[in-house]
Amino acid sequence: MITESLESKKKRSLEIIKRLKKTFPDAAIELNFKTPIELVVATILSAQCTDKRVNMVTPALFKKYKSAKDYAKANVKTFEKEIRSTGFYRAKTKNITGCMKEIVKRFGGKVPSRMEDLVTLPGVGRKTANVILGNIFGTPGLVVDTHMRRLANRLGLTRQQDPVKIEMELNGMIPQKEWTLFSHLIIWHGRRTCFARKPKCAECSINTLCPSREDVKHVSVGLIKAR
Ligand code: SF4
Repeated sequence: MITESLESKKKRSLEIIKRLKKTFPDAAIELNFKTPIELVVATILSAQCTDKRVNMVTPALFKKYKSAKDYAKANVKTFEKEIRSTGFYRAKTKNITGCMKEIVKRFGGKVPSRMEDLVTLPGVGRKTANVILGNIFGTPGLVVDTHMRRLANRLGLTRQQDPVKIEMELNGMIPQKEWTLFSHLIIWHGRRTCFARKPKCAECSINTLCPSREDVKHVSVGLIKAR
């Protein structure tokens, strides 16, 4: 098997971005929110849950709880009931109330804007931190969720399974200014075309750039020609 060089992967990544931009010109975060606090809550709720389900739960939540202080003071049992349908509601309640207590105590009630501060908050790992950085503060962030992990591997951009290792490898391949958009594009592609089971390779706009494409699995990526 021929190993693809980093330079070739960089070129291929740029072409993937170019084509996916055309396929999904509206690609953006699919969680509904208006404030940084709302995005933190929605992102924590979205763990192991669809954005669609989260968006059904958050309107009532956002109406009732406005500030970090409101969440910090929430009655645990009541809050658990309010978010129950998103799954893992006990852990999520603990994370959201714990996170908001820290935001009140250490950051004056405002969501911090630096990765090193965000990851100290309960329930906030690098994935959530990158969602917040990219979608609130305009700081490029590469989000490694289940779609990114699956697609980055299928596309032959990494062989890593650990999210942080995937993020670091992709960060060295994709121009920094594209990290947030690349995340949206890959997540949209994973949700609409490159499904975990039965990816729709025949109608995939990046299939000539993909070594996992159903009919060319045996061909090295270095030999796949761009359209
Ligand atoms: S060709 Fe198939 S496996 Fe590759 S990205 Fe497209 S849908 Fe996914």
